[in-house]
Amino acid sequence: MLKIITNKSCYQFSPELATDTVSYNLPLTLFGKQWYIMDDYWMKHIHLKITDRCNAACPFCIEQDSNIRENKEQFLANVSRLLYEMDAQGHLSTVSITGGEPALCDYVGEVVDMVKRYCHLAELKAECIAEYRQMNPSTKIRIQCVLHEKGLQSIEEMLTFMEHYKGCADDFSFRRLITLDKPAEDDLLQQFKYYLFNYAELVEQVLKDYYVYETWRLNGILITLSHSNMGLLRRMEENEPDNLLREIVVHPDGHISGSWYRNRKVICPAGRKSTKT
Ligand code: SF4
Repeated sequence: MLKIITNKSCYQFSPELATDTVSYNLPLTLFGKQWYIMDDYWMKHIHLKITDRCNAACPFCIEQDSNIRENKEQFLANVSRLLYEMDAQGHLSTVSITGGEPALCDYVGEVVDMVKRYCHLAELKAECIAEYRQMNPSTKIRIQCVLHEKGLQSIEEMLTFMEHYKGCADDFSFRRLITLDKPAEDDLLQQFKYYLFNYAELVEQVLKDYYVYETWRLNGILITLSHSNMGLLRRMEENEPDNLLREIVVHPDGHISGSWYRNRKVICPAGRKSTKT
């Protein structure tokens, strides 16, 4: 399901999300099996989750219970084959190297070198932002915030935060912690929606499968709000063909899933040896 709302009279404060898998019709062969993806930029994105280790302790982190053993040989072999096959079929758009903290992985350099054979590396250092934006005027800078109990506490604090940083960002993004069920009706994100409804201009509200993504303009500042319902995603995936891919995630042991749920839609299990075609 994809619904785009641009009129406040149709805006939904607590949208009921649903899905429709009809548009997942682009065939893709990976590791000898036929899969289907949506013809969409984000479906052609690969998440390389190179390590679960991290030297930070963010209170909202969902990775802290995850501890998958790293397997360099398997990871590099599987990523090499995945990149090759995606690229050969014209379905490789972007790659992100993530974790945990990727720099804690000894072979992150080898992963970067492998990715560089297929993708241009877009590096951005904080001190170079002004210079970078001059050279690339279409680049937008977003400050992305997760709302949680140890962070911003009220709408006033959110407004002050944006006022402070608005000079160096084009857009602020707020999201709540991932939930498995319907979120509370009175949490800060929901309160902020009412505030924006009363005081801001609605640019658009997008309802798509298991997530809501909306953009507002407040005193010239663009604000996006987003929320995913992972419980709905789980239920959707239980009721659809196994060969539809919603994500492509490579885990530290080389296991590749077509879902954020590791054992769903397994493209290549951790234990299988892989050779580049
Ligand atoms: S993995 Fe990311 S979110 Fe989690 S503790 Fe590390 S830096 Fe924070």
